[in-house]
Amino acid sequence: MNALPTALALSDQSVGSLAPPDLRPDLTGLTPAALAALMPTEGQPSLVRGKALWRWLRTVSALPTALPATLPEAGKDALATLASKVRLPDVTITDRIASRDGTLKWRLSCRGLPVETVLIPTPTRATVCVSSQSGCTRYCDFCATATMGFLGALTAGEIVAQVLIARQASPVPVTNVVFMGMGEPLDNLDAVLTAIDVLEHGLNLSPRHVTVSTSGVLPKLERLWSESRAAVALSLHATTQPLRDRLMPRVRRWSLDDLVAFMRQASAAEPSSKSGGRHFFIEYTLIDGVNDHDADADRLVALLDGVRARVNLIPYNPSTVTTYRRPAPERVRAFQRRILDQGLICLVRETRGDDTAAACGQLATRPDVVSSMA
Ligand code: SF4
Repeated sequence: MNALPTALALSDQSVGSLAPPDLRPDLTGLTPAALAALMPTEGQPSLVRGKALWRWLRTVSALPTALPATLPEAGKDALATLASKVRLPDVTITDRIASRDGTLKWRLSCRGLPVETVLIPTPTRATVCVSSQSGCTRYCDFCATATMGFLGALTAGEIVAQVLIARQASPVPVTNVVFMGMGEPLDNLDAVLTAIDVLEHGLNLSPRHVTVSTSGVLPKLERLWSESRAAVALSLHATTQPLRDRLMPRVRRWSLDDLVAFMRQASAAEPSSKSGGRHFFIEYTLIDGVNDHDADADRLVALLDGVRARVNLIPYNPSTVTTYRRPAPERVRAFQRRILDQGLICLVRETRGDDTAAACGQLATRPDVVSSMA
């Protein structure tokens, strides 16, 4: 697994079930500065050593299971000290599934928790879709992940490990990361914020190229917006409260009106786009006969009045565990046209990986959950 020939064993996770839990942080969940603090030189943090570790992590060809014995800028003693203070993430690949369109999906085990990660390449660059939880805390009615229930939250190191795995397999540079896999990222916000920090300082990925998608956990959304420069995507999916409550029952305590009021207020406080001001991505899954009427498009435009918003339409990706259907292509185009004609930016997201249940809303790790579009 390790690209370097010699290695120091890191952890002893093979001891019996009576062993105390390993509370050391994951190596991949630490920024170069945090690693530096664990390998001081004469009592002072050594950023050079922290950066050397991340240079090594960027070049290994597989997720390492041990630290190298030595590195050019971090010697044997420093690495031995580090080995006693951190562990390698307990992440293993259980399956790798390739779609016809080049999308790759991994089934992973994170401390025994099942998780899926997706690499979506284009000819020149790639996006990694990561999971923040195993299963999900929010149980949306149309989502295959919800059928798993909630199995556990991932650590920052396990989230970053997903990006490393996808990066190692990608034929083109990974330039974007989206938190749109399994889980509600804002229900695991501390780990997500740390992961964004590590992606920036360890993998040189600007937070602007990282998108966090939420079902609308309002208090945490406010915190994400103020504490991070990551792009924010709000999954709206409905323009009336009753329909939203039906599709997304576990976020009903934060009303559409309150969510929109926050976005209006945040939009007004942002500098102009030219000066780097952010906008909200509004994710709207189009479901046949449910939320794809002309009146829905009109209400969506009215609702977003005063919000710096870009609408992403996602034609529904059916799976064998839901009964919802994807609208016909002409209905999707008509819905988009109606929004565009009223002055909002509106894109239709290209469907990728739906033949292997790797598309949006289809991640469920169970082999019996497959796309019904394949
Ligand atoms: S749509 Fe997102 S928030 Fe809702 S159940 Fe699925 S993964 Fe969770």
